Amino acid sequence: FVAKLGSGLARSSSRLGSGLAAFNKRKLDDETLEDLEDLLITSDLGAAVARRVTKNLSKERFDREITENEIKQALATEIEDVLAPREKIVDFSDGPRPRVVLFVGVNGSGKTTTIGKIASKLKDQGAKALLVAGDTFRAAAIEQLTVWGDRAGIPVMSKPTGADAAGLVYEAIERAREEDLDLVLVDTAGRLQNKAELMAELAKVVRVIRKMDPEAPHDVILVLDATVGQNALSQVEAFRHTAGVTGLVMTKLDGTAKGGVLVAIAEAHDLPIHFIGVGEGADDLRPFSAHAFSQALVG
Ligand code: GDP
Repeated sequence: FVAKLGSGLARSSSRLGSGLAAFNKRKLDDETLEDLEDLLITSDLGAAVARRVTKNLSKERFDREITENEIKQALATEIEDVLAPREKIVDFSDGPRPRVVLFVGVNGSGKTTTIGKIASKLKDQGAKALLVAGDTFRAAAIEQLTVWGDRAGIPVMSKPTGADAAGLVYEAIERAREEDLDLVLVDTAGRLQNKAELMAELAKVVRVIRKMDPEAPHDVILVLDATVGQNALSQVEAFRHTAGVTGLVMTKLDGTAKGGVLVAIAEAHDLPIHFIGVGEGADDLRPFSAHAFSQALVG
């Protein structure tokens, strides 16, 4: 998987990679430091990280010639330092029963696919799970989740398009209790008339779950699409506010994505990063590794 992660992120960070090449053998003066800081900011790493990298470099090597590799090393070290505290492998088959895991995020970010990939893993682990097609606004999401569930041999609860998602989730938790299931994985809508309605709908689902079990939802996983770049930051803020996000997944790092924003998110938010998505297949979900990610991002 490292090869896949590597090639995916290498493409995703091509701006950063090729941009850094231009600094090879330059004298590390004020102008070079400023150019480097600009490049790091436009690669979505965030102003704070950009500033620290240039500051550390100038402390050690100001007015001396610097190589591309030296910059890459300094950058990879800084990025890994930021990301390492966020590395947290999660085992959904463990913990309270039924463990209720809510997946939130904007439409198209990869929620349904991520649930499907996790369901495939759970099948291998022998956990008794239930998938809930809580994106009742999109017929395709209901169908897609059903396909993943059938493939993994995990039941899927759904209702016709337009049905009340909170009601569906209520029934799903009741069923999980009756059947003594380990885990309830809930998909949610990512697009409504507008953002306020989406957030109101989500808040309602969370309220219903809390009423049934004050400890639940035990996990609220925000799924972020790496290709949206900087926008991922405002999504974290919005969903944290409404749904009380407990962890992150970043998808589509196999594409032309700019995964750099994950560094800015890690800097600003004390939230664990559980997985990254590197493709559409069942095996294309990887536990997040700060080391592998920082190496691949820097190129
Ligand atoms: P949702 O609306 O949040 O449920 O998003 P979906 O799960 O339906 O995903 C939207 C599209 O992104 C689908 O075509 C998925 O196959 C695709 N997708 C999801 N995750 C990944 C990923 O890690 N890599 C790639 N290349 N595509 C992905």
